[in-house]
Amino acid sequence: MSPLAAIALGANLPSPAGPPEQTLSAAMAELAGAGTILARSSLYRTEPVGYADQPPFVNAAVALSTTLDPEALLDFLLATERHYGRDRTRDFPNHPRTLDLDLLLMDNLVLDSPRLTVPHPALAGRRFVLAPLCEIAPHLRHPILGKTVAELLAALPDEGSNRCGAVQKLSPPQGRH
Ligand code: AMP
Repeated sequence: MSPLAAIALGANLPSPAGPPEQTLSAAMAELAGAGTILARSSLYRTEPVGYADQPPFVNAAVALSTTLDPEALLDFLLATERHYGRDRTRDFPNHPRTLDLDLLLMDNLVLDSPRLTVPHPALAGRRFVLAPLCEIAPHLRHPILGKTVAELLAALPDEGSNRCGAVQKLSPPQGRH
């Protein structure tokens, strides 16, 4: 069986595809170029974390069965970000963006290379990442922490940018494939 990759999507600026909701829908479909999409979450409207003076984000998650190796999958994600207008020369931490794609988990892979850290270091601490992922893959287990996605989400404090109210489901589930 091919490895299962969990990918997070986020956007808070219009892209050539349209507003963030349309960018995320188009980008989720485009991920089929990297493998077989097993599940797509709903879209979520979320409050910005860190730098607050920017539009709210739209976030989602995808479960992808892929034969690409992790670095090749990262290259695919970065090319997809560029396709939707991401200009990294203007990046700063927690900046507004037309599309952000992160590799969260890939089976039991633990990797820390100059280009790629898996599991994604911020996965366990962010409701806007865990809530969409829990909708489609609650039983995926973090290979370092030993906890499932559902357990990590349940352990988050309901405060600050991790308040339950800071992450709101926008659309009904878009189906399983
Ligand atoms: P950012 O889009 O600001 O989150 O940063 C993207 C950069 O982080 C990419 O150019 C990658 O080289 C690096 N990176 C490290 N680990 C990951 C990961 N798990 N998923 C996506 N990008 C990663």
